[in-house]
Amino acid sequence: MALIDTHAHLDSYARKGELGAVLDRAKDAGVNKVIAIGTDLDDWDFNREQAIAYPGQVYYTVGLHPCCVKEDWAQSVQRLESYWLDARIKPVALGECGLDRFHLPKDELEALKIFAWQIDAFKVQLELARKLKCKLVIHARGAFQETVQLIDASGVDWANIVFHCFSEGADEVRALNARGGRASFTGIITYKNADNVRAALLAQGIEILMVETDAPYLAPAPNRGKTNEPAWVSYTALSAATLLGVSTQHLTEVTTRNAKLFFGIS
Ligand SMILES: [Zn+2]
Ligand SMILES: [Zn+2]
Repeated sequence: MALIDTHAHLDSYARKGELGAVLDRAKDAGVNKVIAIGTDLDDWDFNREQAIAYPGQVYYTVGLHPCCVKEDWAQSVQRLESYWLDARIKPVALGECGLDRFHLPKDELEALKIFAWQIDAFKVQLELARKLKCKLVIHARGAFQETVQLIDASGVDWANIVFHCFSEGADEVRALNARGGRASFTGIITYKNADNVRAALLAQGIEILMVETDAPYLAPAPNRGKTNEPAWVSYTALSAATLLGVSTQHLTEVTTRNAKLFFGIS
């Protein structure tokens, strides 16, 4: 049984001509499936092409990341639905989308304006997800409560929701779980200063757990600071297994089953 990296960004490797090698190294490390996550118009077609080029190994999502929301966000979001009409291959989720206060500009008025666009772009994507009844990959940074409130108000089924790269604490993960939603975890759980995130992982438990890299970002220890890649989700899995007091094999089986069920892949 092999691991699934449920959240990676593959375009930077492709630009360097390294994607084939990166996917080979993932396979060698026992990570035989990767979900390529969309952030903007630039990577949606690219992700779909990879899913076609690597059938059964690469799956893809499309969505407008909050840090990619600009004045013309509506034109981008309008194009999302067409991917679900593609007869060749459909996305396994909408996302990543949500709210991000962390990367807003310093200028207060500018930040307010952009955050308001983020809220509008997120609402429209929530509405689309409700209509499509699809899974939804949520990015929430520095805006957990607002993100939860917008999802509550949208009528989207919480069972379709994953908060990726969870970086909040136990209370917040319980708030998701109580609604039927879940969190997935990156290499942050291997960082010394992340006791709150480890507490969140333990509070949620293994039953609905999924692991991810968010590569090329957030390389887990012992590779922290390097360019992350899907193969290294194995370090996160090992760390999660140790935390939960289960064998790596058991953690692999459960997280892979969960990822397959959630994203509807076989
Ligand atoms: Zn994200
Ligand atoms: Zn991401």
